[in-house]
Amino acid sequence: MAQVTLNGLTKRFGGRAAIDGLDMEIADGELLALLGPSGCGKTTTLNCIAGLEKPDGGRILFDGEDVTATEPHQRNIAMVFQSALLYPHLNCRDNIAMSLRRTPLDAEARRAKIDAAAAMLEIEDLMDRRPSEISGGQRQRVATAKALVRDPAAFLLDEPLSALDAALRTALRAELVNLQKRLGTTMVFVTHDQTEAMTMGDRIAVMRNARVEQVDTPGVIYDRPASLFVARFVGTPPMNAFPGRLDGDGGVFACGPLRLTVRPDWPLPRGDRMVACVRPHDMEVDRHPRENALPARVFALEHMGRENLLIARSDALPAPVNVVVPPDWHAAVGDTVHLAVPRPVALVFADDGTVA
Ligand code: ATP
Repeated sequence: MAQVTLNGLTKRFGGRAAIDGLDMEIADGELLALLGPSGCGKTTTLNCIAGLEKPDGGRILFDGEDVTATEPHQRNIAMVFQSALLYPHLNCRDNIAMSLRRTPLDAEARRAKIDAAAAMLEIEDLMDRRPSEISGGQRQRVATAKALVRDPAAFLLDEPLSALDAALRTALRAELVNLQKRLGTTMVFVTHDQTEAMTMGDRIAVMRNARVEQVDTPGVIYDRPASLFVARFVGTPPMNAFPGRLDGDGGVFACGPLRLTVRPDWPLPRGDRMVACVRPHDMEVDRHPRENALPARVFALEHMGRENLLIARSDALPAPVNVVVPPDWHAAVGDTVHLAVPRPVALVFADDGTVA
């Protein structure tokens, strides 16, 4: 187990920073999700922690010890990738055993370790099969067992579930968290899927453009996003953004005819132009004109099961508005509707996306 510290970590490729001065503390036994859009620097961060990339600046500490210059095999780190890296000509048992080839264990101790990992991941029945003879989810379990037998100080996982179908992804998500909690091993998990990060991470580091925008628990990230980017990246369906301005001192925000009230605990930014964000669950829709509401046209109505998602467009807004509606709410494409936000729930950001 290890506490992992990143101090001003920087890595450039051809003069461009892939990560730019990252500071992060990952606690011993913590599951940290690195979340962000494609190209923001998640994999580079993970590779630097593993020693697969040499940083151009900054330091990496494991339990306070500087490992920045050490080789990957000296770091006692186990990695699991998006596609399970297994040798096709070896069966699962021999694939897992490859992880132990450098350890001074005798044959019996080796077998006991492999059996224990196989039992933990419930793959005992697959041990004699080759990777081509098992499913993608099973391959990912074998790859995890392969990482597990080394008793690593930390697990680094790079999108380990993204190649799997939705049902398997959900099942393996819970299994990975359960395994990590049982082992108590530090785990850093890369994903661009905010649902995965929200459901799995003890904390989430939200990255954007080579930097970290916010590191906190899923609850705080959702409730108190540190920037407009975080607010819109986290949560499904994503938050609506309304450009506009504050209307007087009472926390009322105006976007054309739409009047929103800012959440009472939210700091009000200064400036002329700003953006208010409202979750789709907090929007109301009416067929008749109503005070403080924004007229819009129905663009699409998507079925989500227990609730539906109305996507509406207004000439006053650059982007469509998402509204969660009950399953018995119906409308035709092109119908006029009136969107309102009656409760004081809006989060307001300055024009540059920062919180006041
Ligand atoms: P994804 O989710 O698409 O995997 P990511 O957030 O993991 O993206 P990185 O793979 O860390 O992002 O890449 C960060 C930036 O560094 C990108 O602009 C990428 O093009 C660049 N980059 C990464 N590896 C290299 C490399 N070996 N050579 C040149 N540029 C690279």
